[in-house]
Amino acid sequence: MNPVLELGKEVGRALRAGHPWVFARALAGKPPRLPAGTIVDVHEAGRFVARGYYDPLSPIRVRVLTRDPLERIDALFWRRRVARAALLRDEVLQGSETDSWRVIHGENDGIPGLVVDKYADFLVTKLYSAGLTPHRAAIVEALRQEVPGIRGIFGREELGRDDAEGDEGPGGGSVHWGEAPPPRIEIRENGGARFLVDVRGGQKTGFFLDQRENRFALRRYAKGREALNCFGYTGGFSVHLALGGARKVTTVDLDRDAVALAEENFRLNGVDPDRHEFVAGDVFDKLAAAKKTGRSWDLIVLDPPAFAKSQKAVEAAIDGYASLNRAALAVLRPGGILVSCSCSARVSAADFTWAITQAADKARVDLQLLEQRFQPPDHPIALQFPEGRYLKVFVFRRI
Ligand code: SAH
Repeated sequence: MNPVLELGKEVGRALRAGHPWVFARALAGKPPRLPAGTIVDVHEAGRFVARGYYDPLSPIRVRVLTRDPLERIDALFWRRRVARAALLRDEVLQGSETDSWRVIHGENDGIPGLVVDKYADFLVTKLYSAGLTPHRAAIVEALRQEVPGIRGIFGREELGRDDAEGDEGPGGGSVHWGEAPPPRIEIRENGGARFLVDVRGGQKTGFFLDQRENRFALRRYAKGREALNCFGYTGGFSVHLALGGARKVTTVDLDRDAVALAEENFRLNGVDPDRHEFVAGDVFDKLAAAKKTGRSWDLIVLDPPAFAKSQKAVEAAIDGYASLNRAALAVLRPGGILVSCSCSARVSAADFTWAITQAADKARVDLQLLEQRFQPPDHPIALQFPEGRYLKVFVFRRI
């Protein structure tokens, strides 16, 4: 029998509908003293609602694994969940040229708190809760069984964080199984693009796989254009734009190591980096300086880190998007393309559109919306988990 936690009054509805988080404040009485990872049953008025793992350190005290009272959390459970996730990727990535994708997308794949990315023949895990640590060996074993052709599984854990949006922390990590990954893993994407990924020192698990299909889709706008890729990291968008025929691509990011790797990535794709520009610096400064000197571009990508890391920060985030987009529009030539992204789950597509409408109004430019893009199907969204719907990529044309 698992320990039973009783919910406070009237808070079971979201859980019964499938939301996977039980906050400490939703529990009746004092929180029990249970070790991280204990499997607990959550009850309301004495009746079973959900089963999950306990995390005494997080405001999200229980993350739900199942709503089936008969389902046991054992090695087979993890195996079933991983197999289900792996099957989705087999289906949606069939015929794709890429060898790198998200294998487990946390809550959205029924394994709350866990992200697993595949880079060629290595897996990189991120555990966002100490409650997963006791189950890690079983998860690693399930990954080994269900994802074929893997040489090693490497961990970049973020224990004690609740939120996958804010973890561009320092590197590190450890080998959970098999071979240690090399300092740079070479991966393939659609359209023959190749990238070097630093899974130890890079941001998140090393690369932003969620933009994979968007990067490729932008190639159709690249031909002959002079492009500015803001928040460019290791040049994901930049390489695709260059391969799509952009005349010159300028990549800007605060992260020096990332910008250096972007240059290497150009070389890897047979593009001469000397014909392009790489700037380790602040995007806001770069845009302001360009406005002053009259420099402009005919394609601009804005892919900033999440602006709203808490509910309180939403208003400020919307203003932040508006002013960033306004600054970009000030240096976008007529006929030019603006690709504007937001990875803040708390800022809805409607809010984000509103921010850009404000920006266009203030910059006195007219925009046409050409495409609304989101995250690819290896980053599925559980409908009961609005937090999973985070990436928005809108493509506009300045008339
Ligand atoms: N477009 C990238 C991912 C961008 S992630 C890709 O497809 O791979 C956001 C990036 O913004 C990070 O690399 C971070 O280093 C950078 N960043 C954050 N604040 C910044 C700022 N003020 N100026 C420039 N870069 C910044």
